[in-house]
Amino acid sequence: MNASPDTDVVVVGGGIGGLGGALALALARPGLRVRVLEQAARFGEVGAGLQLAPNATRVLRGWGLLDDVVAHGVLPRRLVMRDAVDGRELTHLDLADLERRYGAPYVVIHRGDLHAILLRACRAEGVELVTDAEVRDVELGSGRASAVTADRRDTASIVVAADGLGSRLRARISDDEPISSAYVAYRGAVPVHELPGDPHLRDVVVHIGPRCHLVQYPLRRGELFNQVAVFRSARALAGEAEWGTPDELDAAFAATCAPVRDALPLLWRDRCWRMFDREPIDGWVDGRLVLMGDAAHPMLQYLAQGACQALEDAHSLATQLTRHTGDGRVDWDGALRRYAEERSPRTARVQRTARRWGELWHCDGLFRSVRNALLTDRDPADYRHIDWLYQVGHQ
Ligand SMILES: Cc1cc2nc3c(=O)[nH]c(=O)nc-3n(C[C@H](O)[C@H](O)[C@H](O)COP(=O)(O)OP(=O)(O)OC[C@H]3O[C@@H](n4cnc5c(N)ncnc54)[C@H](O)[C@@H]3O)c2cc1C
Repeated sequence: MNASPDTDVVVVGGGIGGLGGALALALARPGLRVRVLEQAARFGEVGAGLQLAPNATRVLRGWGLLDDVVAHGVLPRRLVMRDAVDGRELTHLDLADLERRYGAPYVVIHRGDLHAILLRACRAEGVELVTDAEVRDVELGSGRASAVTADRRDTASIVVAADGLGSRLRARISDDEPISSAYVAYRGAVPVHELPGDPHLRDVVVHIGPRCHLVQYPLRRGELFNQVAVFRSARALAGEAEWGTPDELDAAFAATCAPVRDALPLLWRDRCWRMFDREPIDGWVDGRLVLMGDAAHPMLQYLAQGACQALEDAHSLATQLTRHTGDGRVDWDGALRRYAEERSPRTARVQRTARRWGELWHCDGLFRSVRNALLTDRDPADYRHIDWLYQVGHQ
């Protein structure tokens, strides 16, 4: 085992949360030595699109990255909600109005593009980026923490666990397990010129239906069309090990309207994402080990907030670092404590709301009729239900 040179911060996991955290800390305190340990052989992101709401684009603007993000992404015109069975528009948000209200845009971007932008910014700030480094444990000492892999030990003032939903390091803090929702997602991003018909290339469209939904939006300056189809698996509910298969996908959407069914052949069928979250926890800190991103608060994706909340985490930890630095010394214990106190109630609310949002989207029968009536009556300029989410006191 090699002892690597000591550093100030070790971040475990090079996803959007880990890179965001590394960048935010490096920007907050020039000269701070930040090292990211990623288990994969290269840094990258799988999957297709990501929606970034104003609470996240505000953070990216603070890091000087928003112009780059907008240049690689799309500023959609509207977020439209439709019924998946009859295709009717139920309600919408005007995203230009949303930007005026919250002072930052709603952007959709390919995950790989956002990840690449964060990676470039980390390199420019001197963040050390290490691949093939699967962290197996963290050893906690007095005022120090060490991340341990099979062949290296990295000791730092703090270790940030940004190792995702299945976080191995979270087990140091909580013995909870990921919870299956029995829902599964199929994704696909195809070049626009391969699309049949006349797709809505300026909007984010969500078709909500009984036990299923479909999300569609353009990506990469409008060159790609992104789709995510999500459904509840009967086999998962029956306790079968093999669930969320392509035949279940087709059966789940059989009763939906033609525009929704037409989307299914364009999805990638060789890969799916089973949807898990966890119960919120508020103890995010053990000594000098702290949780961030999905490792801290994995959520169902119905509010499109997992990565947005990870970026908020990064911003919050960096703010606490600044506030807890005096006479050239950092009070790391104070900074970690305040970070967790500030972040955990908010992310718990997002986790719980995401679950309820999913129930609303996927209901059937009388509940569906009532839901549709309420959504159709909604004034599109009524923002009361999202003010708490998008209007955060950042920057
Ligand atoms: C279908 C779907 C759609 C979504 N849509 C949106 C959306 O529109 N907007 C939004 O904000 N969010 C969305 N999300 C959520 C978002 O993708 C996640 O919340 C976000 O990517 C979490 O980032 P993270 O860095 O915390 O974790 P991850 O992306 O899981 O990254 C963890 C990293 O840690 C590495 N790692 C793991 N274990 C170790 C170890 N032991 N040692 C070293 N490295 C390790 C992994 O290889 C990985 O690189 C969606 C999620 C899904 C499933």
